[in-house]
Amino acid sequence: DPQIIWFRQDLRLADQAAVAAAARAGPVIAVYVLDDETPGNWRIGGAQRWWLHHSLAALAASLEAQGVPLVLRRGRAGTVIPELVRTSGAGAVHALWHYEPWARVQQAEVAAECELQLHDGNYLLPPGTVRTGSGGPFRIFTPFWRALQQHMPPPPPTPVPALTAAPVPDSDTLADWQLLPTRPDWSKGFNVWTPGEAGAHAALDAFAGKAAAYDRARNFPAEAGSSRLSPHLHFGEVSPGQVWHAVPDSDSYRREIAWRDFAAGLIDTFPDSHETPGRAQFVDFAHRDAPDELRAWQQGRTGYPIVDAGMRELWATGWMHNRVRMIAASFLVKHLLIDWRAGSRWFWDTLVDADLGNNSLGWQWIMGSGVDSSPFNRIFAPVTQSAKFDASAYIRKWVPELARVPEAAIHAPWEAGGARGYPPPLVDHAVARARALAAYAATRA
Ligand code: FAD
Repeated sequence: DPQIIWFRQDLRLADQAAVAAAARAGPVIAVYVLDDETPGNWRIGGAQRWWLHHSLAALAASLEAQGVPLVLRRGRAGTVIPELVRTSGAGAVHALWHYEPWARVQQAEVAAECELQLHDGNYLLPPGTVRTGSGGPFRIFTPFWRALQQHMPPPPPTPVPALTAAPVPDSDTLADWQLLPTRPDWSKGFNVWTPGEAGAHAALDAFAGKAAAYDRARNFPAEAGSSRLSPHLHFGEVSPGQVWHAVPDSDSYRREIAWRDFAAGLIDTFPDSHETPGRAQFVDFAHRDAPDELRAWQQGRTGYPIVDAGMRELWATGWMHNRVRMIAASFLVKHLLIDWRAGSRWFWDTLVDADLGNNSLGWQWIMGSGVDSSPFNRIFAPVTQSAKFDASAYIRKWVPELARVPEAAIHAPWEAGGARGYPPPLVDHAVARARALAAYAATRA
């Protein structure tokens, strides 16, 4: 019988257990379903549509090299996949496990109608494998990491299997889906990326050579010190096991990869963590409704150079440096007291690596509302952070109005009379800090 490979956020052929299992069982039909229905409000955003287009084109080319076309269908996966099974006479559907709430709905709907075989492989360990002494899920990262390491290393990655094509059902074309922006075309700066399995391995190889410096270099936004693998990992163009084995000499790097596992475990245990604060006292938090300030933040016009550089890097390239994500996110939720969900929404639409687990964890951590409890009195001081992590060259690159400001004024230009075309600070740091502390104090009352 033909075997269906149902691709989702696992757009690779090597070290992909669903591909391997289907290849062993018979001739294959490779399918990707663009499902904007099951995720509802959380369908993928604009930046990821750009990525998806190119990643699917790369996957289709790799499959084509083995004579297997990639079938593209659009609609509710729970309807489309079973229908394909009926019309093709397929024996089974093979897919990798995913843990977003809508991915679980898709899995349940497909499994109710046909034989679905789910395989592991998009995490170092399937979420839920490691448990606390009392058998519960981990809420804190460090003990989770300690427990996870007992199961490491992951199995050696498996190669691309030989595939045989089954007769091919009808397919949309990528062009039908209009995933790329037209007018305005905001994606020009996205040419820094090469989506797809080959691009992922090129990025991994480039990083492996400098992984030894990662522990220090990753904090400095002007240096390309981190791996930039996040969109490749999100779309599953490279497996975390492949990454683990390719970067043998950096424990601090492997620890970051484990954060991704931790985040997947959290959304698996708390499936509404993208919408609901993990700690009850934050449900009624007095967020400010300030649409103009939200817009200024989105557009990189807050008057704080490090925040604006980050927000503009995000818009231009679909990615933002981790240190700057923390500073920019903290500025939105603490300095402006705007709801973290407005921030996570913006990230969802603009990040090429937007990931339900990692994004929700990041925002709830910054807000201090997550189940992993964090010190919510910590307020990132944008000027201090900018100087400490030497962001001058980064700011000059992303905020052209400040390109020629003297070095002494780069982190706080208003102190030196400002710069032409660049706005004054949206809010004074000391005032904002006091206001935030008062709002947080009220949540404990
Ligand atoms: P590296 O430092 O090279 O890390 C390697 C990999 O480890 C990353 O690709 C990622 O898969 C994983 N990783 C690293 N840090 C984290 C972390 N804190 N949490 C979970 N996984 C991590 N990451 C996303 O992948 N998608 C998101 O939507 C996302 N939203 C975020 C929102 C906020 C407010 C914050 C503070 C962080 C967010 N992160 C998110 C985490 C982190 O910023 C990015 O993973 C990282 O910047 C990606 O760059 P890199 O691949 O060079 O990272």
